[in-house]
Amino acid sequence: MARVYTPKPVSKRDYYVILEVSRTAAGSEIKQSYRALAMKYHPDRNPDDPAAEDAFKEASEAYAVLSDPDRRTQYDRFGHAAFDSGGAGFEAGDFGAVSDILEGLFGEVFSGGRRKRRAGRDLSYDLEISFVQAALGIEKNIDVSRPAPCAPCSGSGAEPGTPIHKCNVCQGRAQVKYQRGLFAATRPCHACRGTGKKIPTPCNACKGTGTKMRSESMSVKIPAGVQDGAVRTVRGAGEASPGGNGDLHINIKVRDHSLFQREGADILVSIPISFPQAVLGASIDVPTLDGQVVMKVPPGTQSGKIFRLRGKGIPVYGGYGKGDQLVTVVVEVPQEVSRRQRKLITELAQEIGDETHPQQASFLRKLRGLFDA
Ligand SMILES: [Zn+2]
Ligand SMILES: [Zn+2]
Repeated sequence: MARVYTPKPVSKRDYYVILEVSRTAAGSEIKQSYRALAMKYHPDRNPDDPAAEDAFKEASEAYAVLSDPDRRTQYDRFGHAAFDSGGAGFEAGDFGAVSDILEGLFGEVFSGGRRKRRAGRDLSYDLEISFVQAALGIEKNIDVSRPAPCAPCSGSGAEPGTPIHKCNVCQGRAQVKYQRGLFAATRPCHACRGTGKKIPTPCNACKGTGTKMRSESMSVKIPAGVQDGAVRTVRGAGEASPGGNGDLHINIKVRDHSLFQREGADILVSIPISFPQAVLGASIDVPTLDGQVVMKVPPGTQSGKIFRLRGKGIPVYGGYGKGDQLVTVVVEVPQEVSRRQRKLITELAQEIGDETHPQQASFLRKLRGLFDA
């Protein structure tokens, strides 16, 4: 036995009719249709058009119900009456599903059925840190000067206690219509600079702008391993506004180091050693991020030889583990020698033969054979 239902005399239109879909329409079809209607009737596209605003609200309400399977079932059974009495009614806060769509469409956040736009602009800040700070990570205090609503006038721009009128050029619409070819178009009103307001007595504290620069100190965490040119974003730390703060983008510049260079998570360093150290072997001091370490250079080390110190590099940014430190030893040749040194080196040269310089001996052999064939 079907439940007897007496419809109340409601003037509300059928949700399916509003969304221009059939009663058996799939969820995706309903969504698509709502998107199209929302685009068409959105208040931003139809400034000061109450009919469009009503159509927009009507479509949003219909979509909020039909996009929710439970509510749709209720609506199919009981019509608008399903939400007429006690508790089950459509509340402004039911715009969850609607706001998801609208955010995608307009980049705005809807809540409570009222449009809420992030009015604050994003700001950027250049932060220079040292090589070692970037490698090890650091918490930095930075002073950011950002516009915030003026306190005395609460951001209105009018001297407290004085009236705010509608702009008489645009009648408070903030936009004016003009003819562009065959079409009517709109542009922001010049007289009120797109605010729609006329303020006879500007606020003295902010000269009518409604904003004041405010300097704020904030702590920023820079993670270990950050690269030059990286950008860290602090949500809500941009321009302050009652309509939602902008974000703060911190551009990180890493200063060069006098000894270290960087390749990903590896640190590169060149260490000069003397000819005798290269020949006889030596223990040399090598700077690392953890301080000095002693590295053994074996006897007979060639110039340009690279030694790897495992795990002495930079933490992998956004990952696990650490890079290595790559130490290139460079044999330094004396540029000026004393008389006695010259004599000793000459003696050494006479003493040195093929067996002490196998590479050179091999090269000379090849050179001699070069034009023989
Ligand atoms: Zn105006
Ligand atoms: Zn002010």
